[in-house]
Amino acid sequence: MENFLKIIYNVNKGRENIKVKEIELIKKAREPIIKWYQENKRELPWRKEKNPYHIWLSEIMLQQTRIEAVKQYYKRFLEELPNIQDLAEVEEEKLLKLWEGLGYYNRARNLKKAAQIIQEKYQGQMPKNYSQLIELPGIGEYTAGAISSIAYDEPQPAVDGNVLRVISRLIGSKKDVLDSKTKKEMTQNLKEIMPKQAGDFNQGLMELGECICMPNGEPLCEQCPLQEMCVAKNKNLTAEIPVRNAKIKRKKEEKTVFLLEFENKIAIRKREQTGLLANMYEFPNIDKKVETKEIDTVLKSWGLVGKDIKK
Ligand code: SF4
Repeated sequence: MENFLKIIYNVNKGRENIKVKEIELIKKAREPIIKWYQENKRELPWRKEKNPYHIWLSEIMLQQTRIEAVKQYYKRFLEELPNIQDLAEVEEEKLLKLWEGLGYYNRARNLKKAAQIIQEKYQGQMPKNYSQLIELPGIGEYTAGAISSIAYDEPQPAVDGNVLRVISRLIGSKKDVLDSKTKKEMTQNLKEIMPKQAGDFNQGLMELGECICMPNGEPLCEQCPLQEMCVAKNKNLTAEIPVRNAKIKRKKEEKTVFLLEFENKIAIRKREQTGLLANMYEFPNIDKKVETKEIDTVLKSWGLVGKDIKK
C-alpha cells in the first residue's frame, strides 16, 4: 500500500513538474510574441483604434469567416450602424440583410440583443470587464477574453484554434486540441502568465497562428520568433502536433426542394421564427426524398396543382 501511494505521489509530482516547465516556457515566449506582433501585425480596419464596439463586431464576424471576406462586411455594417445605439434599434430585416452571406445568422441577432442590454444596463457604453462581457448574448469565453484584453488590456486569455495550435507546438503537447479539457487547461495556464500588454500578447498568438504557425502545410518556423525555444520545431514534431482526435459527427438529412414557378415568379417562404436559419427565406421543401410520381400528392397538400413537373 505504501509503495502504491508512493507511485501515485511520484506520478502527480511528475505531472506538476511538467506543468511548471510548460508554464515557464509560455512565460518565456511572452516578450518575443509581443515584440513580433508590434513589428509585424497586419493593418486591419478594426485595429486602427481600440474601439470596443468595433473589436466586438470584428470578433463576432471572424468566428466563421476569413479575414479577407470579413473586411467588406465590417465596413458596410459600420457605415449603416456606426454605434451601439444604432445596432440596438435596427430592424431585424435590415440587420439580416447586412449579415447576408456571412451565415450563422444567430450571431447577428445576438449582437442586437446584446446591444439592447448595453443600452439599458450600461447606458450605451460597452462593459469594460470580462465578467460583464461574458454575460451578454453571443459572447463566450473566447470573445470576452478577446474584447477585454484588446480593448482594455485586461489580463484574460482568448484561446481559439490558432492559440491552441501555437501553444501546443511551443510546449510540445500531444493532448487532443479538440478535447474541451485541453482548452480549459491551456486557458488556465495562460491565465497564470498573462502580461500587462494582454491585448498585444493575445493578438500576437492569434496572428502567429494565422500567418506563421499555420494549420495546413508546413509552419514557417524560420520566420517564427519562438523557433529557438519551440519543442515541436526542435524535436521535429510539427507534423504530429496539434493532435486532433475527436471525430465530428455529421448528420445527413434527405430533403426534396421545390422550385414552384408561376407567371415567371418562383415561390419562396419564410422559415420558422426559431431554430436553424430562423426567419430566413427558402424554397418550399419537405423532409424526405420523394419520387416525381409522388409530387402531385405533396403539391395537393399545399393546395396547389402541378403542371409540367420536372426533376
Ligand atoms: S517554431 Fe514553428 S512550430 Fe514552433 S511555434 Fe513557431 S512556427 Fe510554430
